[in-house]
Amino acid sequence: MPPPQDLAAELRRLRAAGLYRHRRVQDRPQQPEAVVDGRPMLSFSGNDYLGLANHPDVAAALRRGAERWGVGSGAAHLVNGHSAAHEALEEELADFTGRARALLFSTGYMANLGVITALTGRGDVIWQDRLNHASLLDGALLSRGTLRRYPHADGAELERLSAGQRFQLIATDAVFSMDGDLAPLPALAAVAKRSGAWLMVDDAHGLGVLGHQGRGTLDHFGLGAQQVPILMGTLGKAFGTFGAFVAGSDDLVETLIQRARSYVYTTATPPALAEATRVSLALARRDDWRRVHLQSLINRFRKGANQLRLPLSHSQTPIQPVIAGSSRQAVAWATALQAQGILVSAIRPPTVPEGTARLRISLSAAHGEAAVDRLLDALGTLPPAEARRTGRAD
Ligand SMILES: *Cc1c(COP(=O)(O)O)cnc(C)c1O
Repeated sequence: MPPPQDLAAELRRLRAAGLYRHRRVQDRPQQPEAVVDGRPMLSFSGNDYLGLANHPDVAAALRRGAERWGVGSGAAHLVNGHSAAHEALEEELADFTGRARALLFSTGYMANLGVITALTGRGDVIWQDRLNHASLLDGALLSRGTLRRYPHADGAELERLSAGQRFQLIATDAVFSMDGDLAPLPALAAVAKRSGAWLMVDDAHGLGVLGHQGRGTLDHFGLGAQQVPILMGTLGKAFGTFGAFVAGSDDLVETLIQRARSYVYTTATPPALAEATRVSLALARRDDWRRVHLQSLINRFRKGANQLRLPLSHSQTPIQPVIAGSSRQAVAWATALQAQGILVSAIRPPTVPEGTARLRISLSAAHGEAAVDRLLDALGTLPPAEARRTGRAD
């Protein structure tokens, strides 16, 4: 980190390297037809995969919830912030995930910190996929255990690297947030079983989207609580609201209530939000047409992108990265798309590894086929990725 007087120089360096980040101001609810910095744009950059973030029934449940509960929860869950609305949502999430219990957290980031720090400590070894979400990595750092990383989605290599060792936990994204591909969960479950370690799966991008009734990546692979005892899910993506949960055994949830500091030492989310999530969860389970439509958009996009010879990844999920290579290339592409009224995020290091900056295109059931065709038309006008020069700062 630079000394305090050098912040401006460090910011200039980020700008020159194409790594500077800034926030765009949205002027509409989350939906494909966005208004961004005052300009109408067609957006492919959110995580509202089922189109529930701006669903009238979910918004109405929030309003009714505010009439019943007011706004603030008033305190942490263990003080007096735990309401009947939170309790009901936890029961519905346990039922949805087929587990004994579920425990609400304020955010997915906090859920991951809370679980890992509650279950591991000094002297414990924690294995994680190289491309895991930052919150899983940060949880391991905060735990004071030893973080070890295995090559992306490589169960055989984890098996080889960890052979004969004792370790406490394997943690992985189920659907990788910047790549859209799936973790090899059956192979990871086998390694965890052989070694007697916990397996923790973060299904932020699979729940609602994959599996029967949107039960997620574990359902997709036919895995249950036996193979994957710790399931973390977020509520701000496919479910369209806010917050997160961990589902597992009674003992696991009771342990988290006692020991997860990011659960204990924070104010409970508003009860009205829990009421809104109860409605969005029911819609996500019931409306199979959202998943069917989303899958058809994914197929349409991939077919069109292949015809354009775009460098697509193997993702079959709504997350469709187009690898640019350098940060400058990714930003140049995103800027060119914006000039055509299309909003796509350029994702750069350190969010993704050096040399793999990309466009992260995300599709939603709220998109129509015409929107995907407009996106493809715009992508077709982009110049090809420049040949990568070596020795560059990006
Ligand atoms: C978004 C995300 C999180 C964090 O969830 P928040 O509720 O946004 O804090 C955790 N893990 C993964 C894989 C995510 O994509």
